[in-house]
Amino acid sequence: MNLKSEGICGYCKKSFAGNAMAKHLAACADRAKANSKGGNERIFLIKSGAGPFWVYFEANASDKLEKVDDFLRGLWLECCGHLSAFQISGITYASDNTEDTDDESMKIALDKVLASGMNFSHEYDFGTTTALGLKCLSERKGEKLKKIEMIARNDMPDFKCKCGNKPKDVCSQCIFEIGPEALLCKECGKKHKCGEEMLLPVVNSPRMGMCGYTG
Ligand SMILES: [Zn+2]
Ligand SMILES: [Zn+2]
Ligand SMILES: [Zn+2]
Ligand SMILES: [Zn+2]
Repeated sequence: MNLKSEGICGYCKKSFAGNAMAKHLAACADRAKANSKGGNERIFLIKSGAGPFWVYFEANASDKLEKVDDFLRGLWLECCGHLSAFQISGITYASDNTEDTDDESMKIALDKVLASGMNFSHEYDFGTTTALGLKCLSERKGEKLKKIEMIARNDMPDFKCKCGNKPKDVCSQCIFEIGPEALLCKECGKKHKCGEEMLLPVVNSPRMGMCGYTG
């Protein structure tokens, strides 16, 4: 899906495209003010995204990778407790590494594996996989965060059914083959060749239309 989408900066409430948000957050005066209280905890600003879906969040450098996994599951991914893994510098950090001894555990602090400027990735469900790109954008010092803080995320992309109407559902079979043409309004959904039982709701998540994901 090549749709662009905008989202609102959590500090100044202005709207930016996903790829412009990183630059904006580095310059946002309201963010600088909010973070001027001092503190000694190292905090990472991280971006994640897939297609028109993106999120910016902050995590303590001392937080474990599994906390980021939980955050991504809660925001975008969780449907039926599938396995997941991060790929960082060629090493796999898996949610369950008890069977495959080559994989590392996610119970490792972010600052042991990440640094500002590094790209990494995440996969959820190794059958019907949702793949996310991530980047550790920058680091600041501040008060320790109580939880992972979401800074900004995309608004619902402006999806359209092929008839021009707003789509209500997505066909879980067609989403893999024909991309956005799997998006169906109520009327087109009734006539869809795969049958109404294949339809899942349109949701603001890269896992839309996959497995049993309903948001
Ligand atoms: Zn801002
Ligand atoms: Zn599932
Ligand atoms: Zn279909
Ligand atoms: Zn339609």
